[in-house]
Amino acid sequence: MNSSMMQMPLLISSLLVHAERHHGDQEIVSRRVEGDVHRLTFRQLAQRARQLANALAALGIRSPDRVATLAWNGYRHMELYFAASGSGAVLHTLNPRLHPDQLLYIADHAEDRVLFFDLTFLPLVEEVAKRSTTLKTFVAMTTRDHMPDSSITDLQCYEDLLDAQPGDFAWPMLDENQAASMCYTSGTTGMPKGVVYSQRSTVLHTYAAALPDALNCSSGDVILPVVPMFHVNAWGLPYIACMVGAKLVFPGPALDGESLYNLIESEGVTLSAGVPTVWQSLLTCADQHDLAFTTMRRTVVGGAACPPAMLRRFQNRYDVEVLHAWGMTELSPLGTVCSLTGAQRTKPTQQREAMQAKQGRAVFGIDMKLVTDDGQELAWDGESVGNLLVRGPWVAAGYFRHEGTAPLIDGWFPTGDVARIDPQGFMQITDRSKDVIKSGGEWISSIDIENLAMSHEAVATAACIGVKHPKWDERPLLVVVRKADAHVSRETLLAFMDGKIAKWWMPDDVVFVDSIPLGATGKVQKNLLREQLAPIRA
Ligand code: ADP
Repeated sequence: MNSSMMQMPLLISSLLVHAERHHGDQEIVSRRVEGDVHRLTFRQLAQRARQLANALAALGIRSPDRVATLAWNGYRHMELYFAASGSGAVLHTLNPRLHPDQLLYIADHAEDRVLFFDLTFLPLVEEVAKRSTTLKTFVAMTTRDHMPDSSITDLQCYEDLLDAQPGDFAWPMLDENQAASMCYTSGTTGMPKGVVYSQRSTVLHTYAAALPDALNCSSGDVILPVVPMFHVNAWGLPYIACMVGAKLVFPGPALDGESLYNLIESEGVTLSAGVPTVWQSLLTCADQHDLAFTTMRRTVVGGAACPPAMLRRFQNRYDVEVLHAWGMTELSPLGTVCSLTGAQRTKPTQQREAMQAKQGRAVFGIDMKLVTDDGQELAWDGESVGNLLVRGPWVAAGYFRHEGTAPLIDGWFPTGDVARIDPQGFMQITDRSKDVIKSGGEWISSIDIENLAMSHEAVATAACIGVKHPKWDERPLLVVVRKADAHVSRETLLAFMDGKIAKWWMPDDVVFVDSIPLGATGKVQKNLLREQLAPIRA
């Protein structure tokens, strides 16, 4: 029996149409590469996105051509999100923090046709333009008077392209399962792999991510995505803002603590989102100048484990609630959010904070399970630690042009993360499988050790890695960056940790360094640390 419901495909363009019709006056504020702060409304953005869709057609872009971007968070980047995906092309956000060789590999592997870029990245783009076999057109995202001298022949100007086009464009009724955008995993091991999102997966992810126990977004919110739009679509926040009608504030290239703080205060930001390393610089700035957040009440911390010390600082000193979230490129990215239940909220602070250090419960649409290395399912008892598998309509079933590998196991995606799940369904990541420290046949959680070390007042950042050991296979080595002007010795730090974790989890040694290498998405590169430090310890 057929239903009597309409057959309406779930399309990204419908998010923009909705925002224009129902939240037309809502603002999008962007700090630009040019240095100023720019404002426009959803109504204006929708009009410009239609002009851009016409411009893409005039450049010869057809479905499913790839439209690449190398850009900061800003309104022009958002226009590209909708003009490319909405017209049937495929948006491909490139990560400018990657090495040019990797960028070139990704752009050519995806067969990118046109590249839109912010002026900051001109030298990088010139390098790529010289060597790319697929990119034919390059567009600088600026006005005529800011157009640079460049070695790129026929470099196009974004605002000129728009000015030449009318503002009417009928968004096509696409197949909801067709490709809409793509993003390559940052590839800490091996070459990056492309994940291709569909129109449908993006819209479903948007619905789920906006829910109250997920990112909890509404038209009353002013959202600051610090997480880049080149990192899994800024965790979906540009789409979410359209769906709920929230004001958006884009930081552009200014990601230092002071610039972020000023923007948060001047625009009345209520909700922000980013990786822990970004928050570290904001909190350091706020601490140093004894600042307060007058409007920001929530911040989403994800991409790497939120150290409990950071959580406490945000909540106890600044009255900003931390929403700890877990996800990955292959999950569009949202998998779980740690939103406390009513009963948990009434618990004493310490218990509440211990709960919030977990990555939380699955949002509707995501199912998860824990398995042993030989595939036996593990209980959700809060103790058993195993490989985390997920499935759902916005989880990748494979990679772009990577036919050789079949990532799914019986229809489940192996995340490469190691976790435990408590009886209430709150999941806690203990490690990435490649970072787990295997000592005497047992696993030691590097994240637990790092969290403990970072709760010492003199520690800015800590990373724990496994180093070879003749008897135990591997033993933990703690690598620490001290806070500026703070002092703590190896002995004092180990004494501080003693008794707070199992004796056999205690690091064999502590190494103090000036900085810890971060990857293209702001995460600690433990593979590099292992390469640098393991030989010295051998
Ligand atoms: P990459 O795999 O290239 O680093 P992703 O950004 O997709 O790219 O990273 C996903 C990984 O980041 C997850 O598999 C997990 O290991 C880690 N991660 C994400 N969020 C969290 C979190 N809240 N706590 C711990 N680890 C996290």
